[in-house]
Amino acid sequence: MSDICVIGGGASGMAAAIAAARSGASVVIAEGNPRVGKKLLTTGNGRCNLTHISPSAEAYRGAAELISDVLGELGATGAFTFFKSIGVLLHSDGDGRVYPYSNSANTVLDALRRELERLGVGVVCGFRVKSVTGRDGDFAVRSAEGKSINAKKVIFAAGGIAAPSSGSDGSGFAMLEALGVKHTEPRPALTGLKCGGTSRFKGVRAKARVTLLRGGAELSSASGEVQFGDAGLSGICVFDISRYARKGDAVNVDLLPDYTPELAAQVFAELDGGRGLPAAELLCGVFNRRLAESAAAKAQGSGFGELALSAKSLRFTVEGVMPFANAQVTAGGVPASEVGRDLQSVRVPGVYIAGELLDVDGVCGGYNLHWAWCSGIRAGREAAAAL
Ligand SMILES: Cc1cc2nc3c(=O)[nH]c(=O)nc-3n(C[C@H](O)[C@H](O)[C@H](O)COP(=O)(O)OP(=O)(O)OC[C@H]3O[C@@H](n4cnc5c(N)ncnc54)[C@H](O)[C@@H]3O)c2cc1C
Repeated sequence: MSDICVIGGGASGMAAAIAAARSGASVVIAEGNPRVGKKLLTTGNGRCNLTHISPSAEAYRGAAELISDVLGELGATGAFTFFKSIGVLLHSDGDGRVYPYSNSANTVLDALRRELERLGVGVVCGFRVKSVTGRDGDFAVRSAEGKSINAKKVIFAAGGIAAPSSGSDGSGFAMLEALGVKHTEPRPALTGLKCGGTSRFKGVRAKARVTLLRGGAELSSASGEVQFGDAGLSGICVFDISRYARKGDAVNVDLLPDYTPELAAQVFAELDGGRGLPAAELLCGVFNRRLAESAAAKAQGSGFGELALSAKSLRFTVEGVMPFANAQVTAGGVPASEVGRDLQSVRVPGVYIAGELLDVDGVCGGYNLHWAWCSGIRAGREAAAAL
């Protein structure tokens, strides 16, 4: 019998296994895919944006107290120390996003696998866990084919439902539920928004500030590049507001986020230079032609002030969020009330939960992987300490 079985060899599972093995436990990872870390290789467009230089709790949605506590596991510079300890040098871009110096997710995965091997962690791939039975000190982790791993403690690190083709198909939630662990409804997050009226701008990318509105009240706002598609809006800033969106909300796209309406009107007047250009022609010098024509047509009058207001208020109605297949993370999951500070289930002693299975999701920028490392290390260390 092993001391600890980790279900899932993704980011949080590998971190949990390393932390537990470093604490002296015998550890085995059960991974459904033929290899560990499939999703990790796709992160950051293959560059792996694995943390942020200031990973504060405000970047996350979920129970603030638990999040702050678990983030303390690595602290502000702890990710640099952890990755250094497995031989990976990191660097950050101008926005605080941190990547491996190689800019390759392969570097990170190779180093994690080398460390697992060095520590003698058993990695059983192609083992899709179907059920977990037993009790603290004596669990049986079974695959669909009837194979079994016995362990004293179990760490669930099977991910949420985002990008299910990477292996995180929601089976972690089902297994936890069968054990009696409660969870809230998982929802796609960091994903695009389905909106009517975007197809006429298909293929256009524009710098903007997007604001999610419900009944006129502002719910969330973010700046960046908006991508207009056939079925809706995407781009990192849209992903960041998507976790709060639901059908019927409005999205305001401000095409001049750096300008007040007054300043924008002044700039338009200067660009016109007294020539009396038609509005659409004037705006074509500032925006993509299709956006310019739309903003000009929508302006309630021909003055520069009206044009400025129109360019700052392109409106779309949310018809829904893009599905899990398009999402980067899962919102919802096992709430803080179901686990202790040690990330052990309050209902099932000996069961620990890490990563995206927990009801914590962060904005884009390395925060979600940072949560995976921190929660994995916490669960692994605590499970080993409780042996
Ligand atoms: C395209 C994309 C890009 C992203 N880019 C970034 C980024 O740049 N920065 C960032 O911070 N975050 C990024 N994320 C989010 C980040 O990858 C996840 O938040 C993180 O991987 C979650 O870690 P996890 O260990 O909880 O789950 P996962 O990484 O999903 O790992 C779960 C593992 O469990 C295995 N598993 C599931 N069920 C079973 C079972 N029943 N039996 C056995 N094994 C099982 C899966 O096969 C998988 O290997 C991105 C996500 C996507 C989809």
